[in-house]
Amino acid sequence: MARDYYDILGVSRDADKEELKQAYRRLARKYHPDVNKEEGAEERFKEINRAYEVLSEPETRARYDRFGEAGVGSAAGAGYQDFTDLGGFADLFESFFGNFAGAAPGQQARRRSGPTRGEDLRLDLKLDFREAIFGGEKEIRISHLETCTNCSGSGAKPGTRPKTCTTCGGAGQVRRATRTPFGSFTQVSTCPTCNGSGQMIEEKCDVCGGSGQKQEAKKLKITIPAGVDNGTRLRISSEGDAGMRGGPPGDLYVFLFVNDDAEFQRDGINILSNLKISYLQAILGSKLEVNTVDGPVETIVPPGTQPGTVITLENRGVPRLGNPTSRGDHLITVQVDIPTRVSAEERKLLEELAKLRGDRIGKGGMGFLDNLFHKS
Ligand SMILES: [Zn+2]
Ligand SMILES: [Zn+2]
Repeated sequence: MARDYYDILGVSRDADKEELKQAYRRLARKYHPDVNKEEGAEERFKEINRAYEVLSEPETRARYDRFGEAGVGSAAGAGYQDFTDLGGFADLFESFFGNFAGAAPGQQARRRSGPTRGEDLRLDLKLDFREAIFGGEKEIRISHLETCTNCSGSGAKPGTRPKTCTTCGGAGQVRRATRTPFGSFTQVSTCPTCNGSGQMIEEKCDVCGGSGQKQEAKKLKITIPAGVDNGTRLRISSEGDAGMRGGPPGDLYVFLFVNDDAEFQRDGINILSNLKISYLQAILGSKLEVNTVDGPVETIVPPGTQPGTVITLENRGVPRLGNPTSRGDHLITVQVDIPTRVSAEERKLLEELAKLRGDRIGKGGMGFLDNLFHKS
């Protein structure tokens, strides 16, 4: 699964054009397949190119910031296929959230002492079949940590200031020497007094209780791009938890799940449905109205249509994510209805037809019943 483009280039989210270019040049030189023969170097080189391709263009970068990879399909060259392959939802979850859950204690200590970016959040959102196809605006409710407005995030009562921690002198870490048979080791651990912040709050803010943050419920309007599918992930920039000590907020990731439809099924960008016609319509052909996601459409069932025939309605399928003017097809599988009962009049006509064609027919069905009635 693809990694974050900013991570790939090793730059921060607010990196400017020049920083991006330098990072790209440095990495591209390092991993160029002509230079680097290590295993995985070529893969890495491709990743770097793709990340730079997207981030160097302000327009695609903005879309990437908003929707993640889902928003930059058209810019990624051969990237169309990626959208339909986004079914591996468990993988996505791990690649984006695994690093938070699995952070080593040492990393956490370091993270606490300086400005810390807020946590990314995840929201699962169910969409109706048609919402996923055509996209649109959607209101969601989230609950995230916001910076406490009463203390501006300091955690101290307004008018007071946090003081430098006396235990660690503001470093946020304490060192402890441990003697072992192999020698003496210095262990660095998070300061237990200030919990790594380097500061002590004597008078806590009444609103947030000293944490500097408050859990807030919020309504958000988000735009669902046309063509999303099960497992598509949208990134809503900066709507995750607020950062600590002036750090930037995390992002909100919206994972999409699409409800089934009674009439239509979806196969990537194609839509599938069944059409029941009578055996006479199959033989003689017919002009029929069929349902599509765009509404009823007239289609022609040609004479002699066989059961299982697939009629293709071009451009009536799902818009391609990131390139919605291009659409898949609607594939209609024809089912031929053979009646289990026919009227006496129909039977007479059918028998004549059979005689005309020279088809041998058995004396089953209604003929058999007629005999029974005549006997009694
Ligand atoms: Zn507060
Ligand atoms: Zn301390």
